[in-house]
This record gives sequence, structure tokens and C-alpha cells, in this order.
Amino acid sequence: MRLTRIRIKGFKSFADETELVFDRGVGVIVGPNGSGKSNIAESLRWAMASQAPSEVRVASGLDVLFSGSEGRAAAGLAEVELVLEDEGGVAPGGRPELSIMRRLSRDGESAYLLNRLPVRRLDVHEVLADVGLGRDSHAIIGQNQVDQVLLASPSARRGLIEEVAGLGKFKRRRVRAQQKLNRVERQLVEARARQAEIQGRLRPLALQASAAERAALLEAELLELRLELVLSATAEARRDRQARQADMREAKEAQAALDTQAAAIVARRQAAETALGALVTEQEAASRLVQRLDAAVERLRDRAVALGERREEIAADARAQAAQLLEPRLRRAVERGDGLDQALVRLRERGIALIADQIRPEPG
Ligand code: ATP
Ligand code: MG
Repeated sequence: MRLTRIRIKGFKSFADETELVFDRGVGVIVGPNGSGKSNIAESLRWAMASQAPSEVRVASGLDVLFSGSEGRAAAGLAEVELVLEDEGGVAPGGRPELSIMRRLSRDGESAYLLNRLPVRRLDVHEVLADVGLGRDSHAIIGQNQVDQVLLASPSARRGLIEEVAGLGKFKRRRVRAQQKLNRVERQLVEARARQAEIQGRLRPLALQASAAERAALLEAELLELRLELVLSATAEARRDRQARQADMREAKEAQAALDTQAAAIVARRQAAETALGALVTEQEAASRLVQRLDAAVERLRDRAVALGERREEIAADARAQAAQLLEPRLRRAVERGDGLDQALVRLRERGIALIADQIRPEPG
């Protein structure tokens, strides 16, 4: 894997698009202080998905965008593309070149592209790790880091050199493998301890198992008994139900008879009601008749009274007329009576004289 090109635009001091092409062999960038040499190294670091602002000497991520200068507006987008010769064929699509590109807009939108296809930051890290340019690869040594290399202890320097030579990757793998081995060994020891513990618990467990077996047998027996109970209860319930059904039938029959009787009673009642209706009508007619008769009686009574009064009048009249008519006759009759009385007195006197003659004793 070899860096062949860097294209920078809007990143730090590179306002215009700038392309640097590296031939085979050693490339050297020279320039006055502050001309942007370190910025080029940082553009590499940035494109390789560096996160910490300190790694590119800024306070915050957005500070990497060209901040503007006299007569030049600030950049809205920073873009860095690295092109590597892909000898190992790790680039997507198996192309001979690997392009790693990072973009950042001033509104904070960030993008990573591999061979111009959008990818995640993680994908960039993986590709770089595969080609030995991972985070701790020391492929880029900053201006301020040179002192550290010179002042490092021999073992640390050896580590650095190993890392740069690409041995670090294998060393790390060995360390990881060793760690894994240690972990597995620990697990093995734990598993053995557990096995011993389980074996110790096996005897009580066997005892428990036979107890459990007995319990299961008892449970089965219990179940059977319960089943029997349920069956007998069911039979009883069935008998009960049959008896109830018979009762119900009887009750229904009784009800039917009662219904018939009730119907007859209703019919009789209706007939009685009809008869009653007729009687009421008759009674009404009779009472009307009685009323009429009462009225007639009243009228007759009035008439009788009137007739009585009339008869009194007529009688009085008659008596008056009779008195008028009979007065002279009566007087005559009285007079005749008086004459008769005198005649009668005389007759009596003669009679008495005769009788006295008769009863006078004969001389002698
Ligand atoms: P030295 O030789 O001293 O190490 P150098 O060539 O490495 O210098 P750099 O440190 O790369 O120089 O560049 C520093 C320059 O980049 C400064 O002039 C600084 O103003 C400019 N610069 C840094 N960040 C930005 C930015 N965001 N926008 C515009 N210019 C920037
Ligand atoms: Mg510098």
C-alpha cells in the first residue's frame, strides 16, 4: 500500500483545491514556517478518520474548515481525499486504487467515502487496520512527537519500531491470543471446580430422585382416586339430572292439566260475564220500568187525591141538594111519624086494655 496522491480543499490553510502527487521513493515537502507543511500531514490524519481535535491542532472539529483570509471567504466544506495504490486488493470493488475521502460541511454534516461510495467511519478504520495504517500504527509522527521518539526508553522505542514495521499487529494478536488462552484456562479451572461440586451433590440428588419417584407414584395414585371421585360424582349428577328431568316432565303435565282447567274456567267466566251482561241489561230495563211505574203510581195517586177532593165536593153538593130536596119530605115524614107515634100509643093502650081483659080472673 503506497500513498500516491492527496487532494485537499477547504481544509485549514488550503482554501483552493490542491493536489500533491507522490512518486515512488521518498517524498519531501519543504517550505517556510507557517506555510502549511504540518497541515498536509494533518489532512492525512483527518482523512484517516481521526476524531480528537487535538490530533489536528484545533479546539473543535469545525475549526479544520478554512476560516477565511483577507479577500477570501471562509470555506463551507472541507474535503480531503487520499489515494493509495492498492496492492493487497482490500478496496471495495477490487480496484487497483483505494480512495479514502472525508468531508465536513460548516453545518456539521460529515461523510466518509471509500472509492467514492459512502461508508461508516468504522469501515474506514477497518480498511486502514487491514493495510497496517490503524490507529496505533505510528505511520504519522507529528512535529512535536519527534522528541518523544528520541527520548523514549529502549523497550518503548523497540515497540515503536515494531509498530512501524508492521509487527505490532502480530504482537497485538499474540497478546490477544494469550489473553484468550488465560481466560479459557480460568474457565477450565472453574468448570473443574463446578464438576467436583456437582459430583458432591449427586448422591443427595439421587436420594431426592427416588423420593421424587415415590412422590410421582403417590401423585399418580392421588390422580386416579380423584378421577374415580370425579367419575362417581358425574354418575350421581347424571342420575340427579334424570330424576330432575322426570320431575320436570311431571310438572309439565300437571301444568298442562292446570292450563286446561284454567282455560275452562276462563270460558265459564266469559259465559258468566256474558250472562251477567244480559242480567245487567235486563235489570236496567226493569229499573227503567220500575221508574216508569213509580211515576205512573205517583200520577195515579195525584189523580186519586184529586178524585177524592172532587168526590168530597160532589158529596157535599149532593148532601146540600139532598138536604134541600129531603127537608120538606123529612118534615112530612116526621109529621107522619108523629101521627104514627100517636096511633102506636093508642094501639098500645088498646093492646094493654085487651091484655088486661084477658088476664082478669073470672068471677066465681
Ligand atoms: P512550521 O514550519 O512552523 O511547522 P508549517 O509549515 O508546519 O510551519 P502549519 O502549522 O502547517 O505550518 O500551518 C500553519 C498555518 O495554517 C498558519 O498560518 C495558520 O493561520 C494556518 N491555518 C491553520 N488553520 C487554519 C484555518 N482553519 N483556516 C485558515 N488558515 C489556517
Ligand atoms: Mg509544522
